[in-house]
Amino acid sequence: MTEPKQYKEIYRQTPNYNKDREITPTAVVLHHTSGSYAGSVDWCLRKESQVSYHCIVKRDGERTILASDNQRTWHAGKSFWRGKHDLNSWALGLAFEGDSYMEPLSLDMINSAIEYLVPRMKKLSITITDITDHRTVSPNRKNDLNPTEYNRVIEALKNHA
Ligand SMILES: [Zn+2]
Repeated sequence: MTEPKQYKEIYRQTPNYNKDREITPTAVVLHHTSGSYAGSVDWCLRKESQVSYHCIVKRDGERTILASDNQRTWHAGKSFWRGKHDLNSWALGLAFEGDSYMEPLSLDMINSAIEYLVPRMKKLSITITDITDHRTVSPNRKNDLNPTEYNRVIEALKNHA
């Protein structure tokens, strides 16, 4: 039995993933999109953007899943963490709508992210310490998430994972 989901979940496959290889994620990179939910989902569905995440979370908690866990999406770019390059090859990408420096994450966003993450963390043996953000893996190039908001997500996960 899986628990009923609290938040609406929409599946729309992004074309922006590697068709010739699969990944086994062992980490998660958190992002913010800067733009709106609808605009960001649309952008990730356009081939020319060459951008994608596994999941984008809307301010009200709705989320769109753009790729399955084993698809290599294009969210982290040049990145390095714990001695390894290229987070796209070993991490899920989860993005929150908007700019986390302009506006704090809503509780619905955090709860929806938990709803998305916890079953995957169990399935893939990903622990809380394996959850990072774009700022950390691409320093001096990216600033998402706001560290305060990153910490809120981590603290909330500690009560669920
Ligand atoms: Zn990012």
